[in-house]
Amino acid sequence: MSEQTRISHPKELPLSTDVEGFDSLAELALDLRSSWNHTTDQVWRQLDPVLWELTQNPWVVLQTVSREKLQRDLADPAFRKNVEYLVQARRDAAEAPAWFQQAYPQSPLSCVAYFSMEFMLSEALPIYSGGLGNVAGDQLKAASDLGVPVIGVGLLYQQGYFRQVIDKDGAQQALFPYNDPGQLPITPLRQANGEWLRLEIDLPGYSVWLRAWQVQVGRVKLYLLDSNDAANYPAHRGITSELYGGGPELRLKQELLLGIGGWRLLAALGIQPEVCHLNEGHAAFAVLERALSFMEENAQPFEVALAVTRAGNLFTTHTAVAAGFDRFVPALIEQYLGGYAEQKLGITLHDLLALGRQNPNDTSEPFNMAYLAIRGSGAVNGVSRLHGKVSRHLFEPLFPRWPVDEVPVEYLTNGVHMPTWDSAPADELWTEVCGKNRWLGETDTLEQDMRRVSDARLWQFRIAASKSLVGYARERLFRQLTASGASPEAVDEAKQLLDPNALTLGFARRFATYKRPNLLLHNPARLLRLLVNPERPVQLIIAGKAHPEDRAGQALIHEWINFIRQPDTRPHIVFLSDYDMLLTEHLVQGVDVWINTPRRPWEACGTSGMKVLVNGGINLSELDGWWAEAYTPEVGWALGDGQEHDDDPAWDASEAEALYDLLEREVIPEFYTRDEQGIPTAWVARMRESMARLTPRFSTNRAVREYTEQQYLPAAATYRERAADKGAVGRTIVDWEHALKDKWVTLRFGDVKVQTNAAQHIFEAEVYLNDLDPNVVRVEVYADGVNGNSPIRQEMMRVQPPDGAPLEGIYRASVSATRLATDYTVRIIPHCNGVAVPLEVNPILWQR
Ligand SMILES: *Cc1c(COP(=O)(O)O)cnc(C)c1O
Repeated sequence: MSEQTRISHPKELPLSTDVEGFDSLAELALDLRSSWNHTTDQVWRQLDPVLWELTQNPWVVLQTVSREKLQRDLADPAFRKNVEYLVQARRDAAEAPAWFQQAYPQSPLSCVAYFSMEFMLSEALPIYSGGLGNVAGDQLKAASDLGVPVIGVGLLYQQGYFRQVIDKDGAQQALFPYNDPGQLPITPLRQANGEWLRLEIDLPGYSVWLRAWQVQVGRVKLYLLDSNDAANYPAHRGITSELYGGGPELRLKQELLLGIGGWRLLAALGIQPEVCHLNEGHAAFAVLERALSFMEENAQPFEVALAVTRAGNLFTTHTAVAAGFDRFVPALIEQYLGGYAEQKLGITLHDLLALGRQNPNDTSEPFNMAYLAIRGSGAVNGVSRLHGKVSRHLFEPLFPRWPVDEVPVEYLTNGVHMPTWDSAPADELWTEVCGKNRWLGETDTLEQDMRRVSDARLWQFRIAASKSLVGYARERLFRQLTASGASPEAVDEAKQLLDPNALTLGFARRFATYKRPNLLLHNPARLLRLLVNPERPVQLIIAGKAHPEDRAGQALIHEWINFIRQPDTRPHIVFLSDYDMLLTEHLVQGVDVWINTPRRPWEACGTSGMKVLVNGGINLSELDGWWAEAYTPEVGWALGDGQEHDDDPAWDASEAEALYDLLEREVIPEFYTRDEQGIPTAWVARMRESMARLTPRFSTNRAVREYTEQQYLPAAATYRERAADKGAVGRTIVDWEHALKDKWVTLRFGDVKVQTNAAQHIFEAEVYLNDLDPNVVRVEVYADGVNGNSPIRQEMMRVQPPDGAPLEGIYRASVSATRLATDYTVRIIPHCNGVAVPLEVNPILWQR
């Protein structure tokens, strides 16, 4: 693989490639490790300080710098030596055995393919919109730190997600600057003979050429596909023009390129992942293409191939409302995938559609990508504890008659990549206390270590952080106002706004109505009183984009801008436009309190609040997503009663009042109550607890180790087992399923008797299996969980009389008599070693 995927330079080589030492700089510039490991920053700053500050893109700096400057700097032995040292350090880091190699030296896992529609890795590569991309990007980085063998697969968008400006009238305008591939830190993916790797994918009536690109993320690679190939029919060149733009048909085409094209790309590179991780349902077509590859290699039919390969697929859902799933009308699926189903997969269109439907026979039901992902995976997870529960409800219709608690969706809470989001001073503080390698392995000792930091040290760190945020906000606002043609007075004023000593609240997120970005504005007069209090001033920094089609979201932005433009609010609130990764970094590094106000339970996880942890910011959040499991009174503040109230306006109003109360009575006084050294000791104590307890727990370091141990390793082992011997185990599973299906409707219960003694109920059930092998089912006594406890499931055993042959169909079990006998019922479910029930097969027969 190394020969095929080595870093090579694009065709339009910058003029200076022949300068000695250029290759070393290029190697550093093309590794996105620089987005979290800042040892190379000084090199780029020296080459072009202005361009570096503005873009944080080493590759742009390297292409822009003049030949003379480059030659001069590289001729300086100190500079040159440093560059060579950094290159060596990069290579050493890429090769040293990491956590995974040490913990799992004999692992069956050689490769996880991680599919995602977006990746947020660096502002230099704008192919993301928000939270989903954040999770994907941060997980690749943590996989690199930990040495987990992950390869990312995504799309390269010519325009990425839209960029935001706020016009003179306070309205959002959407701009689509072009992502010039020559300026992005990516390289064409070339084959061994130097030819650019291109793939041909069939669309109805025409085929599409896809170009392949490579991104280096530390020791991990990300492959991107785009359709802007000169050989393409013009309409197809634009398929990858924009992220989340266009209508359903364009979205479907993008998802075909991602899932089917992505899997073919791996095949073309000779990469055979055991595990395919679907980050949201967008990439679910990879399930089909993976099964197809298996069919072709092993001469098996689709259903066997799917039974084998799904064991190696993991689906992570990020959606908290049914309307959030991607769904396509059947005609579109027929148009784009009808031929693929019949000619390649060897199944009917009806069977294909059934994979994406709740009811296979409802011809009007759209095709749901999340359903396909579930039908094609060996495990499914939500992204916070609460979201796991919400997802079990959302997917309940796919598991008819199963108790909702047994709907097979687990949870694995997201984290963020701390080395990306910490400030340089935070990095220094944590290094002092916890050492340089704190995010490269287990993190068990960080909590105690952090508790040892003194109040004075922590507070001095925070003061500096506020100061730099205010400086950045003024600078960014200055540029923003200049560009939007504001008056010279307004532009000048930007340099005086905000106060480095005031309490700073941050609110930055997508302006979607469920996030209630205007909750703080519910009572503008009350908000204003809070802000302008001369003794205890408060300031607010806001940022966020609303999707160009989302009128309601844009109206919320407008509302804020109108409020901010009043003379008395102006010094205390700024709206920074074009919320992006660079802005996030500065905000999470400097704010005192991060505010989060979604309507529970619609924020599946939320990650922005996790980014303040490492920097000593404190969360004030609705008890939703991650905060519902993170919150305790020592680490921050909570809003809401932990219940769901939908979009009830009366509840919104009462939460808004509760938010003002919390700020007035707790947050502001705690910040301004100082000891003789000027330290707010209660505040600092809360900050220390938040840093110590929550930072390791909500890091991607923890999340990726959990994915590896709880999902990837078992999935790889099960997949290998099923795939062995041309899918023999898969074949057995399919035969078992057929046998079950044929007989299931004829199974029935006879008498069920209960005898109760002092401590136990003894259940005895007559079961008619109609010649079905008793080993392929399990008979159980079941009772729903009460008061938050898990349900009770007790297997019943076939009764074996002392003198020989088993009695036909009598099953017995005893269960605790602490519950009433009538709470229990008897049921039959499928059973086959190693098969996930009910995820893979879901019939169930209840006695009553
Ligand atoms: C972290 C981040 C997000 C995700 O934020 P949530 O609102 O918590 O989901 C979105 N956009 C950007 C630019 C981010 O940095």
